[in-house]
Amino acid sequence: NEVCLNGEWMKPEEAQISVFDRGFMLGDALYEVIPFYDGKVFALEEHLDRLKYSLSQIRFDFEVKKLVPFILQAVERSSYAEEDAAVYLQLSRGTAPRTHFFPQSSEPNFLVYSFPVKLKDFEQRSWRLLLAEDIRWHRCDIKTTSYLANTMLNDESHRLGLDETLLFRDGKITEGSHSTAFFVKDNVIYTHPEGPEILSGITRKIVIDLCRELSLDIREESYRLEDFENLDEVFLTGTTTQVMMITDIFFEGSKIFSRPEAGPVTQKLQKAFKEKTRNCQA
Ligand code: PMP
Repeated sequence: NEVCLNGEWMKPEEAQISVFDRGFMLGDALYEVIPFYDGKVFALEEHLDRLKYSLSQIRFDFEVKKLVPFILQAVERSSYAEEDAAVYLQLSRGTAPRTHFFPQSSEPNFLVYSFPVKLKDFEQRSWRLLLAEDIRWHRCDIKTTSYLANTMLNDESHRLGLDETLLFRDGKITEGSHSTAFFVKDNVIYTHPEGPEILSGITRKIVIDLCRELSLDIREESYRLEDFENLDEVFLTGTTTQVMMITDIFFEGSKIFSRPEAGPVTQKLQKAFKEKTRNCQA
């Protein structure tokens, strides 16, 4: 499949940008991953709003509406147009001589492409997690491509044969290296409040709304490490992760959480999430 670089479709090997692109040199770039269920885009407005927020935070002027036709074309033009897919969108401040301050003028570079992704049957999958200290910067609310810390942390779990790394800072869980974390204890659901410590996940918002619709007790409060005893359920959310049940959590060589089957709250939310994303089709 072709990729779209600055509005032009071409073979990936033909897509070229300058070595002075600020995304390449400094990580001065933003990204989004937008899901397509059965070929139909889901939560596009929410993803564009988050991109607008990230743009405003890094003082980057760009009209996000300009990207919409390319986002839609990315799946329409693909060989899996009727299936589940996702669009990767990256936007860098562009090419300019390397400076630590933002250049007065630079032509942004944007890249859009789609990839097939198995969104179906997510409720039949499960993940095992490593718990590790959150070493990221203090603006995790900006969806930047500067994900070196996230990839270092995620790689730690992969080297142990686990699926994702759950992060804590000052004794409180923040989120996963590429996902949002939810905890269930005594029928109360906890997730970290929005702010610079976490990315405002689109799936997080959808799941919080579903909790309210289902009259579940959802609290946007961080979960503390000392409350891991008698923890009932853990699940992670994300655009491609959806609502993933967690069976095991490891910390410093021991297992600190184990639950082989999805708990009742996780199951309820998985079902509601599936209905929402599939427009109530079974
Ligand atoms: N937190 C981080 C650090 C992430 O990278 C992601 C995935 N992009 C998420 C949370 C989940 O966000 P979303 O539901 O918007 O995919």
